[in-house]
Amino acid sequence: MMTADIPLADYTTQRSRFISMAETKGGLIHSYPHPLSGPKGELLYTDVALFGSETASRMMLVISGTHGVEGYYGSESQIAWLAQFEMNQLPADTALLFIHLLNPWGTAHLRRVNEDNIDLNRGFIDFSQTIPSNQDYLRWHDIYSGEREFADRQLASALSREGWPALKRVVEAGQYQYPTGLFYGGNQPSWSMQTMQAIIERHLSRARTIISFDLHTGAGAWAHPMLLSIAEQPFPAHAWGKRLYKESLTLLFTGAGRDSDTGVAATATGYLSQFLLNALPDTQILPLVVECGTYPAEEMHRRLRNDHWLHLKGNPATAEGQEIKRDLVEAFWPADEDWRALVALRTQQYFARGWRALLNETED
Ligand SMILES: [Zn+2]
Repeated sequence: MMTADIPLADYTTQRSRFISMAETKGGLIHSYPHPLSGPKGELLYTDVALFGSETASRMMLVISGTHGVEGYYGSESQIAWLAQFEMNQLPADTALLFIHLLNPWGTAHLRRVNEDNIDLNRGFIDFSQTIPSNQDYLRWHDIYSGEREFADRQLASALSREGWPALKRVVEAGQYQYPTGLFYGGNQPSWSMQTMQAIIERHLSRARTIISFDLHTGAGAWAHPMLLSIAEQPFPAHAWGKRLYKESLTLLFTGAGRDSDTGVAATATGYLSQFLLNALPDTQILPLVVECGTYPAEEMHRRLRNDHWLHLKGNPATAEGQEIKRDLVEAFWPADEDWRALVALRTQQYFARGWRALLNETED
């Protein structure tokens, strides 16, 4: 691939590339306008592209940009799948639904979180129930707020006293008490969560069988796209997923005290995958996550924390701010051509296998 072909991390460019490909392939596009704008005043949308019948009973769902800045990888994966897709080969009763950039504010502002500092993969909880309380986070919150030099000293002392794995386990579990903290899950449904609910009602509630992919980057080994099922407990479609993907699929169970060697937080609450399972109890749904590894976890934490600080206290438009943004984009969408080629290949394989299985799925 020529360097010139590598798209820049620019929301409007990325959106046009997706829309133009979706239109070329005959997709029906429905756009959800976001109330805020991008850093250059750009209009922001989550776009939904439907290929096939709105009432299809079998559906493949692909979601990009749950974590805004990771949406460049996600969008490219969606575009690549569409590039080889032919609408006239679409069987009756089967559809593709692509949700493009669920957190468009984060994609445009080059942030993992949304406009309210919410990590959407902590924010998909039922806010009418008791909100989880991460008591351990209270001890660490100073690392992410207040005066920077003090916070840096707190971090250094926490790392030397308890070590990185302990800090990671607690902080990445998410928290709902500190809106200015890291891995904040919110205290009410975010715009993206409400949009997701609207999309479920409009597009997904009639399907009987759904295989879905939520596309992420930033955890795991460099250039290795892990395929995960993330849920609080076993669910009916697990067996189908294991038959389909065999050793490629890792089942990750979340909850207090749980651990995982995948690099993805097992202690966390509020994952989109679990939300899909809860929202569609009568559907045979297999919610999968593709998580492409980039830099080591402690380095990711350093870059995320700098970006957190920048938006809390600094100015992204300054030279220092721009450097932090460049570091963050590189952390979630590495420029290395081999990285991009590898994750692209594996992601398309995951889609292809899921798609073939969906086509062969017979009703029980
Ligand atoms: Zn992510």
